[in-house]
Amino acid sequence: MIYFSTNKSSIPVSIKKATIEGLAPDGGLYIPSDIPRFSPDEISHLEGASFNNIAFAIAKKFIGDAIPPDQLSDIIDNCYTFDTPIVVLDNNTFVEELFCGPTLAFKDYGARFLARLTGFFAAEEKTLITVLVATSGDTGSAVAYGFQGIANTRVVLLYPSGKVSPLQEQQLTTAGGNVHALEVQGDFDDCQRMVKQAFVDPSLNASLTLTSANSINISRLIPQSFYYAWATLQLKERYGLSNPLFSVPSGNYGNLTAGVLAKRMGFPISHFIAASNANDSVTRYIDEGRYDPKPTITTLSTAMDVGNPSNFARLRYFYHNDHASMARDITGIAVSDEETIAAIRSAYDRFDYVMDPHTAVAFSALERYRRSENHLEEPGIILSTAHPVKFLEAIKNALDKEIGIPSNLQELMEKKKSSTLISSDYKELASFLNGLDQ
Ligand SMILES: *Cc1c(COP(=O)(O)O)cnc(C)c1O
Repeated sequence: MIYFSTNKSSIPVSIKKATIEGLAPDGGLYIPSDIPRFSPDEISHLEGASFNNIAFAIAKKFIGDAIPPDQLSDIIDNCYTFDTPIVVLDNNTFVEELFCGPTLAFKDYGARFLARLTGFFAAEEKTLITVLVATSGDTGSAVAYGFQGIANTRVVLLYPSGKVSPLQEQQLTTAGGNVHALEVQGDFDDCQRMVKQAFVDPSLNASLTLTSANSINISRLIPQSFYYAWATLQLKERYGLSNPLFSVPSGNYGNLTAGVLAKRMGFPISHFIAASNANDSVTRYIDEGRYDPKPTITTLSTAMDVGNPSNFARLRYFYHNDHASMARDITGIAVSDEETIAAIRSAYDRFDYVMDPHTAVAFSALERYRRSENHLEEPGIILSTAHPVKFLEAIKNALDKEIGIPSNLQELMEKKKSSTLISSDYKELASFLNGLDQ
């Protein structure tokens, strides 16, 4: 399998190069030259398989012989040490809980796979790869815990001092070992500016192999298709239901793009709902065919506050820039903060189920879709992207209720914070990086 850039002016590369580079030299995003297909026979053979066996079957098609099968299988077992539960709300509404990993959000699925692939390829190249990320919270924690202890890699993450939640800061600063947290006296934009400068600093790049781990990396995208396939197979096996639709809480649109990948591979998915908050550039595009990105608006579902989503280029590419063909597969629905709160209440009152605000956006969108398009029969799966405990304020506002803290979070809160305080002057970042072991 080879990978080429959505901008089409870089030369096609191997999965190794696409993983290490992240972004193509022409500024485009890497996509597989053709999307591997599963025949109906292959799919029925996967019925009853474990999550990891399904993940392996998919990964093998994308990775080919770049990683020997037994090692790929070990990588997958090492990534997915936690469950992916599918919870029943009513006889045709389900929640797929993607928050059971170490950082309690779905970004663990992509980050853990990317980390292990990066480690494998770095070992093969006999090099040490330094992952440099600026984070405002969620991505950084998934990357920190994803790369923790992975040989031939280390992480330097920059976060704005005092501008992340206590829980996020704990997740960013306690991984230890090969993960270094820099607490920057500045805001998120300062962190991003410093990271960008490091990537183009010739003296730094002469001594270090730097890479980023943001959501445009193809090796973060591929593993997100695993849980779509798993859900279609589980629904069939456990409830005899086929062709579900997925409601996907969307920010940078990596999650939804991975769903489209799963559908193109042949897994039976009837439709997608792109559920957004007030940041609705893509949902408006699907409706109107005009892409008109707007500045970011702050909402209750903060991880989806993205004005100009980075994976939209890939999504558009898959539909040949044709909004009408995109609209046949995807309905865009934007949900307000008031509707989000109402959806948290409604899920709790009707199903005794507590949803975080991101999941509630997807739930609200699914309900609106069912009302307006008369699609009451299709089974619907809501992707739940974060554990409600990560958004206690919103839950308290909506429900006036305390929720239990999962045990892995309790352990996390007791770990000792370790970070290095630096100013927002680039020179301090450069000198930190130069001071790392070569
Ligand atoms: C990142 C994130 C999203 C958005 O996912 P995209 O792949 O960027 O669309 C939704 N919910 C949560 C909790 C997230 O952390």
